[in-house]
Amino acid sequence: MKSAQSILKTYWGYDSFRPQQLNIITAVLEKKDTLALLPTGAGKSLCFQVPTLCEDGICLVISPLIALMQDQVKDLQSKNIPAIALGGQLSEEAQDEVMAAAIRGKYKFIYCSPEKLAQKQFQEGLNQIKITLFAIDEAHCISQWGYDFRPPYRKLDVLKQLFPNVPILAMTASAIPVVQEDIMKQLVFKNAHIITDTFLRPNLKYSVQKVPVKLHALRNILNELKGAAIIYCNTRSNVAQLTEMLQAYGYAVGAYHAGMPIEARQKVQANWMQDSTPIVVCTSAFGMGINKGNVRVVVHYDIPGSIEQYYQEAGRAGRDGNAAEAILMYQQNDWDYWIQLQEKKYPSIEVIKKIYQHLADFVQLPIGMGEKQQYIFDFETFCINFKLDKIIARNALSWIQQEGHIRFSESAFTPSMVQVLGDRYSIENFQNAQPIAGAVLQTLLRSYGGILDSPHFINEKLLAELLQRDIPFVIQQLQILALHGMISFDQKQHQPVVQFLWNRSAASFMKIDFDHYQLMKKAFMERIQQFIGYLQGQPAICRSIYLAKYFGEKGSKPCGICDLCTSTKG
Ligand code: ADP
Ligand code: MG
Repeated sequence: MKSAQSILKTYWGYDSFRPQQLNIITAVLEKKDTLALLPTGAGKSLCFQVPTLCEDGICLVISPLIALMQDQVKDLQSKNIPAIALGGQLSEEAQDEVMAAAIRGKYKFIYCSPEKLAQKQFQEGLNQIKITLFAIDEAHCISQWGYDFRPPYRKLDVLKQLFPNVPILAMTASAIPVVQEDIMKQLVFKNAHIITDTFLRPNLKYSVQKVPVKLHALRNILNELKGAAIIYCNTRSNVAQLTEMLQAYGYAVGAYHAGMPIEARQKVQANWMQDSTPIVVCTSAFGMGINKGNVRVVVHYDIPGSIEQYYQEAGRAGRDGNAAEAILMYQQNDWDYWIQLQEKKYPSIEVIKKIYQHLADFVQLPIGMGEKQQYIFDFETFCINFKLDKIIARNALSWIQQEGHIRFSESAFTPSMVQVLGDRYSIENFQNAQPIAGAVLQTLLRSYGGILDSPHFINEKLLAELLQRDIPFVIQQLQILALHGMISFDQKQHQPVVQFLWNRSAASFMKIDFDHYQLMKKAFMERIQQFIGYLQGQPAICRSIYLAKYFGEKGSKPCGICDLCTSTKG
């Protein structure tokens, strides 16, 4: 077995481990299940990469985002370490080939999503590979008590079922004590074992500013900026608005949110990484796994939904160890957003039941039928037919799905996206030259205000009705428009379907664990309440101490630089 030290030097060129890294690597080599709870930037990736390289056999890495996987795979490949990411970007055949090669021993690291791991065929493939370690990145996604729960992560208990002797290393940068327990329970750790470090960030100055005009305060900050900045907003429309305003003032700003096409997002991120557009305005979709040293300030322009989320996002400032600021701006009525969201995110039980019945009616599911049946499901039409608020409907349906009653195809809630690219002149020319596609273009412009400025979700079925044609016609014409460069068309991949798992008359139909639901609803509210505590600075202790305590850390000293420390010094 090669020594961890020599691996570190050979592949990374670093001379020494950071203290917790060595503890974790040792635990992994001793085959102990371990939860590594270290802040972002601490170097968690090395903790599974180095021990894997010390031994024969491969490491399977579970990661929530394809972009995160690809970054790490690229990084390993650049060091001549054979690694691959399995996921939606590869065809079925290509994935089969990868597995065949993996069985022959071609790879040292295989990255995959939790959904992939749930596939029987993939599990059988894994059975033929010598696996020495399971690494679970962003492990807080496992817990419903955490702030970023992802349902597919719930099924990771298969790891211990199928491979009881392979150790597990779970890694996260933010997990409050109940989440820590939950992670170890769900992964079926043989023994509870947590390795953690301090959550204090001595170079980070936290402050909370209740300001009359946020934009004014923000401009003052940006005018002093030396380096990069991130400005977090809660919604896509807030991101769009603020970006526009800042650009109008002449700042070099990029916008980033999950509603943008993937290429546009990648470009914004790359420009920001290279400091050509050093300010990014974004939703919380931005930043997971990014690694940039010179972020001098992270501003929260809206109130985030939890302390975990805030700590993660604020913590992207000052990774290089130099002085940096985390500033939260708010106004009294900012709370309304969260109160309203809570009502929409956790609809009442009556509403959930009603929406479930609507769904069965919508697909005309007869009494006594349903089990394993698939039906085409158009979400937009569903909401229109039953006069439902889209956010409420979507949350109710995803709750019913989480409870295991129905399954939506991935495309059910991700409509096609279109932006009109031409200017008035080229649009007119095009309409004269191509009247049929031109009419579709006209309908797009009429139906979706602002489609000239930014990509919009569209609904093929509604367009078909407006044009009095069928859906294939609409799709064909959109493709023609895209071909001529008149629009960008990010087409929904599959016809969305819903599958029912029970017969409509079965006792299990409509049986939902509402106690559990109420607990989650309560946890959501509690996270927000905790944030009020941080915001109001009550009791008036140092912001760093408040945050560290929240993660279960005891006995920290005041940071001396946050707004509370400096104001009580007098
Ligand atoms: P995390 O996952 O904890 O947020 P990463 O694994 O992405 O952090 O590592 C952050 C950065 O720190 C990477 O650039 C990595 O190469 C670097 N790094 C990790 N360990 C060491 C070390 N022992 N010495 C120097 N740099 C390190
Ligand atoms: Mg990481």
